[in-house]
Amino acid sequence: MTDFQSLGLSETLLRAVKSEGYTTPTPVQEQSIPPLLEGRDVLGVAQTGTGKTAAFALPVLQIMSRKQPQGKRFIRALILSPTRELAAQIDERFAAYSDHMDVRHRVIFGGVNQNPQVRALQKGLDILVATPGRLLDLIGQGHIDLGRVEFFVLDEADRMLDMGFIRDIEKVIKLLPKKRQNLLFSATMPKSIAKLAGSFLNNAVMVDVSPKELTVDRIQQKIMFLRKADKRRLLVQLIKDERVQRGIVFTRTKHGANRLVKQLDQSNISAAAIHGNKSQGARTKALAGFKDGTIPILVATDIASRGIDVDGITHVFNYDLPNEPESYVHRIGRTARAGRSGIAYAFCDDSESGYLVGIQQLIGKEIPVESSHPFHFIGAIPKPGQKAGKIKEKSGTKKRPRDNNRNQQSRGNSQSGSRPQQNNRSGGGRNNNSRSQRQGDSRQRRD
Ligand code: AMP
Repeated sequence: MTDFQSLGLSETLLRAVKSEGYTTPTPVQEQSIPPLLEGRDVLGVAQTGTGKTAAFALPVLQIMSRKQPQGKRFIRALILSPTRELAAQIDERFAAYSDHMDVRHRVIFGGVNQNPQVRALQKGLDILVATPGRLLDLIGQGHIDLGRVEFFVLDEADRMLDMGFIRDIEKVIKLLPKKRQNLLFSATMPKSIAKLAGSFLNNAVMVDVSPKELTVDRIQQKIMFLRKADKRRLLVQLIKDERVQRGIVFTRTKHGANRLVKQLDQSNISAAAIHGNKSQGARTKALAGFKDGTIPILVATDIASRGIDVDGITHVFNYDLPNEPESYVHRIGRTARAGRSGIAYAFCDDSESGYLVGIQQLIGKEIPVESSHPFHFIGAIPKPGQKAGKIKEKSGTKKRPRDNNRNQQSRGNSQSGSRPQQNNRSGGGRNNNSRSQRQGDSRQRRD
């Protein structure tokens, strides 16, 4: 397995990576970092959650540290991002990775007072992370000179185009020096992106870690229909019957994860929860126990699971089906790593059948049904023609609080850079997604 050392990163950056708790490069890092360090352009098909920020931030920092300019700082790296949230998150990653370096970075976006941004620009910056609207505004006002940019990153290019930023991007590119290194990331690769990529990338190395690649045949997938109230019993039964030594259980909410750990404990199954409300210490401890085999079951939410990179996971349990179809692909990709095989169970209750429809649309096939278990419930099977993404709510039942949790979770997602409103390959949730995207769009355009 590749480690960060073999990618050619400097000691300073290796230290930064280590202090972030990363042990193994993600596929997009493994494939992008070496060519970027060699000065090549890269075209990456990868979405948020794959570790793509580090894939470009680490080489940018390393290349910049090779020659430290004397005197006033000028912008040497420009990262364009479609949304404020993502821009802020990228800048925060630069802060983390450049902790031991003499680098000035700053994020600028619309919708907030420009004066602090202008002051930071006047003091001089090495790295600028920006949304297109505010960037062009400040360029127009004479506060930004892109004439010495060495490194240009266009992140989430498909979303940029969906949000109507193509003209802005073209304007920005015209202001960059001819000789520079380029990187374009996009979750999808429609013709429009390929055309854009062709217009400014030079002999780029293509890196593709798109989700469809992750649904490898080695993962045996099974869907089990049941009532919500029976999920815990079925999980316990499967863990015991299959003598699971290293399995990961996904819940939709943090609270659900905590509760499940307690319930498993009552059934004499040792488990630990890992999610955003846990302290770093608790997370590290849970992961260490999981890795050394003392804790066979990890119960995780989607966001927390991103940092989990453990080999030898034999079972993935989708205890709650994810409301984002892409999360299913990420989840099941936790098993069957490094050439091994794995099994991914998905539990679907009658409120989740719409999520299943969305997942199956995304992965382009039906997940085989496992009905030979004591809790099989036909009421949870999607109805013919059922639309993706809808939850069947029973009026008068106590579903609301859980629904609220779900919303909180998806807000959390968006803060952490996941992309609830991403335009994706799923037919599922597409209506919802594109609606929120348009909302994001108009908000962004007003910036
Ligand atoms: P990104 O796709 O860049 O938004 O990254 C998603 C999350 O993965 C972030 O929270 C990163 O801190 C984390 N991450 C990035 N690289 C690694 C790695 N090699 N190992 C574990 N976590 C990582």
